Amino acid sequence: MRQSRTGAGDKPAPDHTNLPPHDRDNKEIAELFDEAADLLALHNENPFRIRAYRNAARSLRDLDQPLSSLTSDPTYKLTDIPGIGKDLAGKITEILSTGEFKLLYKLRRQIPTGTRDLLLVPGIGPKKARQLERVLGIHSLEGLRAATEAHQLAGVKGFGAKTEANILTSLTQAEAASGRMLLDEASDLANRLTSYLAPTTGNNKFEVAGSYRRSRETVGDLDLVADCDDAAALMDRLQNFDTAATVLGRGATKMSLRLASGRQVDLRVVPRESFGAALLYFTGSKSHNIELRKMAQNLGLKLNEYGLFEGDIARAGRTEEDVYRTLGLTWIPPELREGHGEIELAATGRLPQLVETQDIRGDLHVHTDATDGRHSMLEMIEAAQRHHYEYLAITDHSQRVTVAKGLDEFQLQEQWSNINKIQGSFPDIRILKGVELDILEDGALDMPKETLKEADWVIAAIHYGLKQSPQVITKRLIKAIQSGLVHAIAHPTGRLIGKRPAYDFEWTEVCKAAVDYGCALEINGQPSRLDLNEQALSRAMNYPVHFVVSSDAHSMNELNFMKFAVYQARRGGLAAPNILNTRDLRLLKSKATTS
Ligand SMILES: [Zn+2]
Ligand SMILES: [Zn+2]
Repeated sequence: MRQSRTGAGDKPAPDHTNLPPHDRDNKEIAELFDEAADLLALHNENPFRIRAYRNAARSLRDLDQPLSSLTSDPTYKLTDIPGIGKDLAGKITEILSTGEFKLLYKLRRQIPTGTRDLLLVPGIGPKKARQLERVLGIHSLEGLRAATEAHQLAGVKGFGAKTEANILTSLTQAEAASGRMLLDEASDLANRLTSYLAPTTGNNKFEVAGSYRRSRETVGDLDLVADCDDAAALMDRLQNFDTAATVLGRGATKMSLRLASGRQVDLRVVPRESFGAALLYFTGSKSHNIELRKMAQNLGLKLNEYGLFEGDIARAGRTEEDVYRTLGLTWIPPELREGHGEIELAATGRLPQLVETQDIRGDLHVHTDATDGRHSMLEMIEAAQRHHYEYLAITDHSQRVTVAKGLDEFQLQEQWSNINKIQGSFPDIRILKGVELDILEDGALDMPKETLKEADWVIAAIHYGLKQSPQVITKRLIKAIQSGLVHAIAHPTGRLIGKRPAYDFEWTEVCKAAVDYGCALEINGQPSRLDLNEQALSRAMNYPVHFVVSSDAHSMNELNFMKFAVYQARRGGLAAPNILNTRDLRLLKSKATTS
């Protein structure tokens, strides 16, 4: 069984998972090793041990083959990788075979979350975090904010007035990310929980509610809502989901669990006739619920997690639709339940017909192993076919992006002639000759115009000089758009959730240029980007600009990130006609060449 992410009233999303969950790539294991090094450093551990993890992380990132394919060869030894000794090889095997990394889990449990959160602030590494803890007794982002605002940091060794100012500007981002999961982790956990509990939930209703169901860009706890005849059996099973979990609380109908990974799961079991009201209540948001309760009061009714009541008599509660209908509203998709005017729209029948994952006909931003992708072009095409796409744009990086082995004009042309050769073997999917073009610091394009004219699909993005002034960034974007050679601006604001704030630019000027030159703006589905997000979308939607939703996949599995782009589009209130890649290829191309 699979939970329908958007709940009743919506078609179930197709399941695109095509790799086992444990097939983590080298980059992910490198990230786990880096985190282990950070936490060991916070623990003031032996510097050699810390360095060993850092070196191992670096050499895993440099490996040109996925670990899972190397280890499937019985003659291959992980210790052949530079920097990987016997101990670390054991850790890699553990992660690959069980999906778990016990040492890291232990470290996460030992070091208070507040102290770990300090590392989310750019410019604060383990050393500085320890310094702050020792000198100023700071154990949390809250404490850090108070100390920074009181200018106490500038006096601490290693911190100057400038560091203090930098920390203050990046604190908000870190606060947003602290203790929260990115959508890929949240969705992986939600799927694992759902299928694990399926034997007990059976034919009963079960949903993952909360901010996860609303597709917020980061998710805190997972809130499970179930109607179940045997609440105790369901809780027993949940308790065994993770043998290293801590039970934070358990009653007759609710339970809270802290998993070994540090994530919290809350379960609520409700009677069948209350399921819709409970799902509504635990999906939130708070402000949406408050507005609904006020509406109920005005009608002489009372709304809570058990139902919608007139005195003692339940008027609705079994499904969300019933509750909304009784309040005089159409069902509101969870992505819109943020108290931003959606209730008024629902009351007057003006809710947008939100785009759905099934509307998407092709992916227009993917990478291959020619640059920093993990799989070959053929593998990416075959994976795209499993998504039933009609077209796929191969958009590897241009040469400026040296960290990703960006292609020069000759390598790009070679890739394109390769596409010409293989297209015949793929009658069902059109492969678009594309590129992710770097917009250089002066706004010039990182590829000769003559080459770009032969492309089917060009996306352009800023990867360097992100700290330039808004005026300069505006000029760069507009210059790229006005070249008439760019079909879409990729990850238009450059932010990385919890790591790097968006750069600022003049939205009016950029959006107007985009409209004039028929250049679309991308909604990038990488969980750390989700760029544009809903706030940016609401700015851009003041103009008749077109959007594309993309996965920016760097592996076959990451083609699934398309759904995260679609969720952000839905949060922004976008309908299919706003989005170019809901169209067939002919319409896509005619739009793309109207410049
Ligand atoms: Zn990029
Ligand atoms: Zn990319």
